[in-house]
Amino acid sequence: MNCALVLPHLLTAVAKTIDQHATELTGLDQAIGDGDHVTNLQRGIQALIAQSDALSQLEWQTAFQKMGMIIMSSVGGASGSLYGTLFMSLSKNLTNEPLSLLSFSDAFSNAVVAVKQRGKADKGEKTMLDVLIPVADQLQQLAGNQLVLTTIMSNLKETAVTGAEATRDMIATKGRASFLGERSKGHVDAGAKSSQLMICAILDVLDASI
Ligand code: ADP
Ligand code: MG
Repeated sequence: MNCALVLPHLLTAVAKTIDQHATELTGLDQAIGDGDHVTNLQRGIQALIAQSDALSQLEWQTAFQKMGMIIMSSVGGASGSLYGTLFMSLSKNLTNEPLSLLSFSDAFSNAVVAVKQRGKADKGEKTMLDVLIPVADQLQQLAGNQLVLTTIMSNLKETAVTGAEATRDMIATKGRASFLGERSKGHVDAGAKSSQLMICAILDVLDASI
């Protein structure tokens, strides 16, 4: 898939979903964190959109690397270094060959492992990883099958939604929410919810462009 054609649409779709859910996401981060998650994300997304034309001239491998650097330097908080790591690692795990579903699914799985290492966290700790890990696992599983892309995408969206919702009953053991212990129960994790929203927005754009 051509970077130039789709990247600006992906960025505006991600910006739109975060803007549309800003109140809800801020409420989630206020409940068990410090309330800055949306502004952190919006800073990063705006920095990426500002570079959209230049980024879309690049091959995916280089574009992911540059995006990782932009995210690292513009987004504060835990999410900045974690999302930065995700994009830098995507780049490291891709070659300059045209992107295929199989090569992307391998690179994405490795990038999620890098995020786990960076955050010293795993599934079940009430973080964005409760969305990223199941989505990466399912993508790997489905990419090897001969399924139609639209089916793969709707499965991934469902998995992302289930993953985010599952954080509601978890006790946070990583990040600021872990300071609350038991009291973190009963709220969806802001980073899990925003990851789900961004993944769903990206899949919708890709689904419409195939
Ligand atoms: P901060 O927590 O520094 O204020 P943000 O509010 O931008 O940063 O992001 C918080 C989100 O980051 C959390 O909701 C959670 O999903 C994610 N997060 C925090 N710590 C970790 C970690 N160690 N590993 C994975 N994700 C984490
Ligand atoms: Mg925060």
